[in-house]
Amino acid sequence: MPDTRLDLDLEPVSQWLPARWKKIIIAGPCGAESEEQLLDTARSIAAQQHTSLFRAGVWKPRTRPGAFEGMGEAALPWLQRVKAETGLPVTVEVATAAHTELALKAGIDVLWIGARTTVNPFSVQEIADALEGTDIPVLIKNPVNPDLMLWFGALERLNRAGIRKLGAIHRGFSTGTKTQYRNAPLWEMAIALRSACPALPLICDPSHISGRRDLIESVSQQALDLDVDGLMIETHRDPATALSDAAQQLTPALLLQLLEKLVVRGKGCDDAHFGHQLNSLRSVIDGIDAEMVQALARRMQVVEEIGSYKKEHGVTILQIDRWLQILQSRTAQGQALGLDKDIIAELCQLLHKASIRRQTEVMNR
Ligand code: PEP
Ligand code: MN
Repeated sequence: MPDTRLDLDLEPVSQWLPARWKKIIIAGPCGAESEEQLLDTARSIAAQQHTSLFRAGVWKPRTRPGAFEGMGEAALPWLQRVKAETGLPVTVEVATAAHTELALKAGIDVLWIGARTTVNPFSVQEIADALEGTDIPVLIKNPVNPDLMLWFGALERLNRAGIRKLGAIHRGFSTGTKTQYRNAPLWEMAIALRSACPALPLICDPSHISGRRDLIESVSQQALDLDVDGLMIETHRDPATALSDAAQQLTPALLLQLLEKLVVRGKGCDDAHFGHQLNSLRSVIDGIDAEMVQALARRMQVVEEIGSYKKEHGVTILQIDRWLQILQSRTAQGQALGLDKDIIAELCQLLHKASIRRQTEVMNR
C-alpha cells in the first residue's frame, strides 16, 4: 500500500488557498440554514482573521430521509453575500452535475466532494465532466469506507478533467467497529495518501472524525502532529440549534479558543545539535531495523525447512494450536515489555501470513 504512487499534475496550494493562520483553516456551519445564520456565523469567523475559506453545505447528504437535507439552490445567494460582506471565499459540497453547474453559476470559489460521493466513480466522473474547462479548486473527502484506491481514483478523475487546484480532506472512515469516534481516523490512510503524493494538500476534518465537540482538540492536535496542511472545522453561531451535526459544531468563540490552544510544530529545526542528535538516534533505528530484517530472513529459512518436513510427513500447513500459542506468547511477551498488545498481534499475523504463503510454495513444488 505505501509504495503505490499517485501522479497528479498540481498547482501549489499557496497559490489558490493561502493560509491566514499557521495552517489553512476552513470554517463554517455544517449546513446553510438561513441567510441570517450564515452571515452571522461568517462575520464572527471573518473578524478572527484566521480562516481562509468559509464552508456551508447547501445540499446535505443524509443517511435517512426526512432529516434536514439542506436549503439547496436558494442558499447560494446567501453565500454570495457572505463573500461580498466578509471577503471570505466560500465552498459548498457538490454531489451531482446539476449541483456543480449551479455552484459554478453562483460563483462559488471552491467545491468539495463529500465522503458519500467519493465512493461512487459514476458520480465523481459526472462532476469531473461538469468541471471540464474550468479551473475551480476542488477538495475531495476520503470515501466513507477505508478504500484508498477510491480516494486516489476520485483525485485522478478530477485531475484528468483538468482540475489542477486539488486537495484532499481526511474525515475518517466507517469501519463497522464501534469506537469513541463518529468516523475512525485510521491515520495510516492519510499517511498512505501523503506518501503516494506528497505535493497534494491534505486537510483534516476533525469535526466529522470526532462527531462530538470534546474530541475535536485532540484529533486536531494529532492531525497537526502528522503535518497536515490545514483543518476544516464545522462552526455554527449556535450549535445547539443546528439542523445537522449539532453535537460536533463549535461556536466561533470556541474555534478561536481551539486555535489558540493547538500547537503547530515545525517540519525541522535550525539547531545544529538537534540535527546531530536526531541523526545519531536514527542510525540506532537503522541498526535495529537491519537486525530485524536479518532475523526475518533467518525465520523464513526455518519456515521453509518446516514446510519441507511437513510435506515429507504428510502434515497440514496450518497447525491451529501452534498458531494460537505463538499469538498468545508473543503478545504476552510484548506486553511485559510495555508494547501494545494489538500491534504485536498484527505483527504476528503478518509473520504467520508470510509463513503460510512460503509453506504453500514448498508444498506445491
Ligand atoms: C459535511 O462536510 O458536512 C459532510 C457531509 O461531510 P462528509 O462528506 O465528510 O460526511
Ligand atoms: Mn456535517
